[in-house]
Amino acid sequence: MLAHLIEEASKMQMIMFGPPGAGKGTQSKRVAAHYSIPQLSTGDMLRDAVAAGTPLGMRAKDLMERGALVGDDIVVACVRQRLMDADTQRGFILDGFPRTVAQAVELNEVLTEIGRRLDIVIELSVDDDELEKRIAARARNAAAAGEKVRVDDDPQTVKLRLREFYNNTQPVSEFYRSAGLLVKVDGLRDVEQVTSEIINLTKDVRHF
Ligand code: AMP
Repeated sequence: MLAHLIEEASKMQMIMFGPPGAGKGTQSKRVAAHYSIPQLSTGDMLRDAVAAGTPLGMRAKDLMERGALVGDDIVVACVRQRLMDADTQRGFILDGFPRTVAQAVELNEVLTEIGRRLDIVIELSVDDDELEKRIAARARNAAAAGEKVRVDDDPQTVKLRLREFYNNTQPVSEFYRSAGLLVKVDGLRDVEQVTSEIINLTKDVRHF
């Protein structure tokens, strides 16, 4: 019983939401390390599938390179599978998912099925000009470090990714606002400041 209570008390089930380039990946990694829980990035899962040449990766590759969203069925299946893994039982940070209201609805269904629920959705707000600058800097830094530059970080594709965000993903914010789960964080500040604010906001929402 006590073990069960301790386990429950340490759960942190959150979503890191925001446009491409807002810092979701960076912040998810930092906050996940703080709580010792995994960061579940659908972008990373899909890039791994593309690199491994799996049938799922082959379905996703072209859409990803064009900056378009991959089908809801594909990403929901990836997330559903990850939520069954032992390492996600103490909590998780979803990064880049859900990206459509349909995905958010399906996520609720999966969580209900497995007797879990979300604690909080953090929305990182950053304006468009800054987003484009940040993604360009990410591509430059990766190239300078001799790392692989993401195909979808090229400026034209970034514009398409932003359009996808405003057309399909932005409504997810309202979905969680009306569920009382959304907290907006100014993503324009230093990386450290943003992380501290998120940790402050989340430390009291772990459920018992
Ligand atoms: P990210 O690394 O989160 O920027 O994702 C890179 C790309 O993967 C996106 O531009 C989409 O093509 C695809 N992707 C990642 N997550 C999702 C999702 N939840 N729904 C649909 N497509 C996604």
